[in-house]
Parts: sequence; C-alpha cells; structure tokens
Amino acid sequence: MELTTNIPVRKNPYSKLNEVDFDHLEFGKYVSDHMLVCDYGNGAWKTAQIVPYANLSLSPTTLGLHYGQTVFEGMKAFRMKDGRINIFRIDRHYDRFVKSLHRMCMAVPPREIFIEGLMQLIELDKAWVPSKSGEALYIRPFVYASEAKFGVKISDEYRFIIFGGPVPSLYSNPIKVKVETHYARAAKGGTGFAKCGGNYGGAYYPTLLAKNEGYDQVLWTDARENKFIEESGMMNAMFVIGNKLVTPPLSDSILDGVTRNSLLTLAVDMGFETDERPVSIDELEQAFKNKTITEAFGAGTAAVVAPIQTININGGDYNLPAYSIESLHNKLKDQLELIRTGQVADVHEWNCIVG
Ligand SMILES: *Cc1c(COP(=O)(O)O)cnc(C)c1O
Repeated sequence: MELTTNIPVRKNPYSKLNEVDFDHLEFGKYVSDHMLVCDYGNGAWKTAQIVPYANLSLSPTTLGLHYGQTVFEGMKAFRMKDGRINIFRIDRHYDRFVKSLHRMCMAVPPREIFIEGLMQLIELDKAWVPSKSGEALYIRPFVYASEAKFGVKISDEYRFIIFGGPVPSLYSNPIKVKVETHYARAAKGGTGFAKCGGNYGGAYYPTLLAKNEGYDQVLWTDARENKFIEESGMMNAMFVIGNKLVTPPLSDSILDGVTRNSLLTLAVDMGFETDERPVSIDELEQAFKNKTITEAFGAGTAAVVAPIQTININGGDYNLPAYSIESLHNKLKDQLELIRTGQVADVHEWNCIVG
C-alpha cells in the first residue's frame, strides 16, 4: 500500500532490541523502540508523531484514570515466509475501534492516522517482528481521556497511542472453564461489544473465584437469565456440535472478534457447516450426554485458539474428547497461519503487507 501521510519521526537513539531474548519470548514483557502518539483537543486531532517509547506523565486528575473512558485494540503483525511483514486485518480492527470509541463518547482517530501511522511504525520497528511459527508482534492501539479536570464529564481531550511488542506462540494445553451463572461480564444495552477498559476490570473478580476452584477461565452467560453462553474469558466461544461449528450470535454483549470472524469464514471455505445461534447451557449439557459435542475452544488474537478440555456446568465437570491435529480448531488455526505468513493465497484480502 502507498502511504499518503508522512508522520514525523523522532528516532530512538537507545534501541533495546539486543536486550530481547527471542528464544524465550514472554507475552507482554517486551515493547519495541517506538510508539505513535497523537493528541486531540479543541475539537481536532493534532499532528501524529512517532517517538521513542517512553513513560507518560499524567495529572492525577486525568479523566481516563477515574471514569473509565479508555478503549483499546489488540492486533498482530506477522513475519511472512519471504521476510516481509504483514499486519492482519487492519481495517476490521480500525472499524471495531471506532465502534468502541463511539460507545464511550470518545474522539475517533482518523483512519489514515491509524492505518498509515501503524504501517510506518511497524516498518520502523520491523526488526522486532519475530519469525518463528506462531510468534508475532502484538500491537496495542489505545485512546484515553487525557483532560485534566476532576468532576464527572465527557472529556474534551484525548491521547491516542500505538505501541507493540514481540510475543510467543501461545499454544496452551487445553483449558478448564466454568460456566458462570452468578456474575455477568456484559448486559444487554451495556458495553460488552466495546473493547473498553472497565469490561476487563469487572471480569477479574469472578475469574479469580473460578481460578481458586481450579478453572482457567469462566464461560460467561447472558446477564438476564444466565442461560445462554456468551464468551470465554477474553475470547469468543466456539463449539463443534453435531459436526457443525457453532458460536453465539453477535449482540451488544458479545465482542465482534476478528478471530471469530476469520475462523467462521475459513470453516465455510473448508466446506464445514457453521451456525451462529444462541447456545444454552442445557443444550451444552445435553450435547455432552449425547456425545454430540466434540470440540470447544476460545478464539482471540492473543492465543488464536485456546482448546477447552473441561467445562463445569452447574457444578459438574464435563470432559471433551481428546483433540488431534485433525480437530477442526487445529485445522482452522493452521490455515490462518498459512494465510498470514503468505504460504497460501490470501483470497479474503486480510493481509496488509508493510514494505
Ligand atoms: C478482544 C476480545 C475478543 C477477541 O477478539 P479478536 O478480535 O479475535 O482478538 C473476544 N472477546 C473479548 C471480550 C475481547 O476483548
């Protein structure tokens, strides 16, 4: 893609690249040398800049710290087999960012600054994109209310930042999840579809309780009746029931995952039937009893897929059959990896190749 904006760059004279142990990457540990920063005030976005990654200085009255006007995205750049760098589904991430920001009454960074700024940033820090299978540069764009004024109000000032850092392949052993029927993550009419900070803070306590009982994550249910499955932790929930890929339909309490959408599309490409429909707890329990459920997994950018081994429903543990490389979630994950690394045709035009 040709860039039309040229964002001023202040180069980091002290690269930390040689401090990274690329053989032992840890999620969230390393951040690359530069970040993009752009401020909003007096009704307009100012000039974006790419600057050395550094701490921020904030007034204690900064509105975003108090009333939760913070929105983020999570996306990845991959090193392709030919060495070029690919930012995956940048447009779809931007569109979701816009929806989240609107819901939180926040200023929306222009598309060119998001897309071209990100491309320029990744081009500059491309040596930070790891190259082993499944590894990536995780990218974190976010906006927070930066106006320094106490008192509850919609902020008139915002700061938009993008930074990134190398992360390992997160292949995990199949996880144990607990169907949560007391606490809720997101309600009808609420902010569950938005990637806003408060949704995550609010999920910690019920997740901690589940962890104390020996589960890795909660499987959220709807806030009204606690009968229908919504999401699995910070991932969309997917099941293979009766040989169909089944996932709850999008709503204002379910986040529209880019991974969810990609996997549904790839399943159709592979000739697999998909079904976006409500999945009740009763149906899940019945499917275990009838042995019609063969897979359950979470889908999200960080882990791509997180296979589920055990689901606790109303106090009883149900186990999924053992998985193999022939399991649908493994085939989908492999196909996605082949597209992202340029080893098969990118027929859906998901890749955005940087220099
Ligand atoms: C980010 C997120 C997902 C996954 O979305 P992706 O675009 O696939 O990364 C799912 N659920 C929640 C609550 C999330 O925050």
